[in-house]
Amino acid sequence: MPYQMTEQELINSFDEALKLNHIYAHYQPQINHSTGRMVGAEALMRWQDPVHGMQFPSDFIPVLEKNNLIHRADLHIFEQVCKFQRKCLNEKISLVPISVNMSRRDILNSDNLDYVDAIEELRKKYDVPTKYIRVEITESSAIGGMELMQSVISKLHGYGYIVEMDDFGSGYSSLNVLKDLDVDVIKLDMNFIRGNIGGRGGTILGSVVRMAKWLDTPVIAEGIETVETADYMRSIGCNYIQGYLYSKPVNEQDFIEILGKLNHEPMQASMKLLSTVASGNFWNPDSMETLIFSNFVGSAAIFNYDSETDEVEILRVNKKYVLEVGEGRTEQEIIKSSPWKNHDEDSKAEYVKTIKRAIESKDEESCETWRTICSETCGKEKICVRSSLRLIGNSETKYLFYAIVRNITKEKTMLGAFQENEGKFKHAFEQANVYAWEVNLSNWEMRPCFRCMRDLHLPPVVKNYPEPAIETGIFPPDYADMYREMMKKLADGEDNLEAVIPLTVGRIPFHVRYSLEYDENGKPLKAYGSATLVVNEE
Ligand code: C2E
Ligand code: CA
Ligand code: CA
Repeated sequence: MPYQMTEQELINSFDEALKLNHIYAHYQPQINHSTGRMVGAEALMRWQDPVHGMQFPSDFIPVLEKNNLIHRADLHIFEQVCKFQRKCLNEKISLVPISVNMSRRDILNSDNLDYVDAIEELRKKYDVPTKYIRVEITESSAIGGMELMQSVISKLHGYGYIVEMDDFGSGYSSLNVLKDLDVDVIKLDMNFIRGNIGGRGGTILGSVVRMAKWLDTPVIAEGIETVETADYMRSIGCNYIQGYLYSKPVNEQDFIEILGKLNHEPMQASMKLLSTVASGNFWNPDSMETLIFSNFVGSAAIFNYDSETDEVEILRVNKKYVLEVGEGRTEQEIIKSSPWKNHDEDSKAEYVKTIKRAIESKDEESCETWRTICSETCGKEKICVRSSLRLIGNSETKYLFYAIVRNITKEKTMLGAFQENEGKFKHAFEQANVYAWEVNLSNWEMRPCFRCMRDLHLPPVVKNYPEPAIETGIFPPDYADMYREMMKKLADGEDNLEAVIPLTVGRIPFHVRYSLEYDENGKPLKAYGSATLVVNEE
């Protein structure tokens, strides 16, 4: 059993550990999960004590930091990495860039040493091109001064180093940190997010990866242990993986073996934004672009188009998009699903044609396409959408688009039906005025149909129904209690309830009807509600 050395023992053996290389580096490969090729590796400090055995960084690094020794250990590792890369170059071993960790204490060391100058001197001494060494800084280094941090990054850039933001998502992170620090690579640490994939953690992860894409920044996911997690990361656009799935950190000899076995490729930014677009502002919550995106443009979306596969991936939609063409889905559901699902071949062809026109013209191009939308509450319906597209960025085969969309079904159908005959017009009009929703009686979650969302401004899921709906003023105050009573009766299993209620701001009378679905024990499960306009029959 290795023995965990005490603080005093560590301090006492430190000088000798450096001199005799008891402190040295292990290497962990970074792999592109889509191609299986290696894009880099990280050097991780190890301390093999001749008497007490292997000591681990989580135990000894805090001690070194506390005692102002960490910069000496980090410089030692940096030098080892330079030596290793020099050896690879000399012996024609195919090499990859290696990331070296930099502690926040390295910058603030009390030896009055300029850490960046010190590593640069070592690099020159071994004559290793900067492209073979990357520097990892941690987000928490930003504490104690973003300006200091940015000046260190600028200095590293000045010498030509790639700078990686380590442990993004560990707590200090905010997208604003990303915006203010000019880093080249983001590392997401799955150890901080574990157990949360697919849930809220997954959503946040997804948006970080997407936003990083807009910033042209590659993302490496760290701590990946299973194929499932790696596949999930790939599905949200993060291909670069560092973790036990591919390899534990290994010693130099084993690492050389891996270098020989795997093919290599350079790490790439996924997207280059057109210079006409102020890239950073699309995700800055206070920017004019965001304000416009969210409030003024109507329904808008940002999507990616892959010219090789004709696939379209939605990256971001605003609130109005969710209401108007979201078909009752939440923003996350919209982003996850394939946009072509609702298009028939002709509509898809028309849309792709418009995309290609917009790539060609670099100007706004529009089309009108029909989509079949399905919702659990409303069933199937065809809607017509006018989309105006504008190219905002591209890589070799991927194109980033900004789309403003409008649901023009009413104009289209009414016009069309009216042109055919008046009777059909009336039918179309009535059809367009059926509202439907469902209430889950076990948790009082209500899911409205897209018409409810559009006309009553309800979100895709209303929790604690009916109170939030009552609060918005959909019901007249003197009907609210009656409606609450109706909910109670449904929960008690009373089926086929009906009432006429003046709804919406216009207080238009609607027939409100409810029917129930029961579980196998006869307990009411869900209530299906509908509201139809009370038509004057004379
Ligand atoms: P880090 O920089 O976030 O390094 C990644 C850690 O995750 C490493 O732990 C690595 O062995 C571990 N890891 C990699 N893949 C997996 C995985 O699939 N599952 C799990 N559970 N863990 C994985 P390690 O080597 O124990 O290092 C711990 C921390 O110590 C590092 O976290 C870093 O903050 C610090 N550290 C390591 N080497 C150095 C160094 O040379 N200088 C400085 N200042 N700090 C270092
Ligand atoms: Ca690291
Ligand atoms: Ca990390």
